[in-house]
Amino acid sequence: MRHEIAPRSGAGFELKAGETLTVYDPRGEQVADLLAYNLADPAEVISSGRTLDYASRIYLTTGDPLYSNRSKVMLEILDDTVGRHDFLLTPCSKDTFRIIYGDTDPHRGCFGNLAAALAPWGIHPDAIPTAFNCFMNVAVDGATGAISVDPPRSRAGDRIAFVAKMDLIIGLTACSALQSNNGSFKPIEYEITL
Ligand SMILES: [Zn+2]
Repeated sequence: MRHEIAPRSGAGFELKAGETLTVYDPRGEQVADLLAYNLADPAEVISSGRTLDYASRIYLTTGDPLYSNRSKVMLEILDDTVGRHDFLLTPCSKDTFRIIYGDTDPHRGCFGNLAAALAPWGIHPDAIPTAFNCFMNVAVDGATGAISVDPPRSRAGDRIAFVAKMDLIIGLTACSALQSNNGSFKPIEYEITL
């Protein structure tokens, strides 16, 4: 069964070892931030730094493992119809919108949505790291290191699927940042299968 995450919102749920989580972009050009915590010990959390270090690449796709802060594999990418995702930038937040967009009354962003979605498992906002940003298209200038947030390459119906390698708590959003989503806010869908 597919679940919908409404525009600019988030969801939290458990994903057991061996289950597959498929994240769909039903309309295209919409980012979904993904976080994972060890269900048995939520101090173990997905780690961008360790994953990119071990992959020796910043763009991940089918076959790539996503590691925790304890260097254990939490998830592995099983299937990917887009091939461009980001694992460099933190979830958008009130401060993102204040600092980058100049908003005076900013939305709580993916950060606030993730904090609310993960609160039932006792996860504190300070324990939210860099998320795996499904469909987010961050281009890097190899010479200067300059980054730009470009429109996602995902089209309507595109997906990325992950298999869980341990029992997990997952946080997932429909991203709230205009720039990441080519100027409009759209839903995200997800499905859990065995
Ligand atoms: Zn966001």
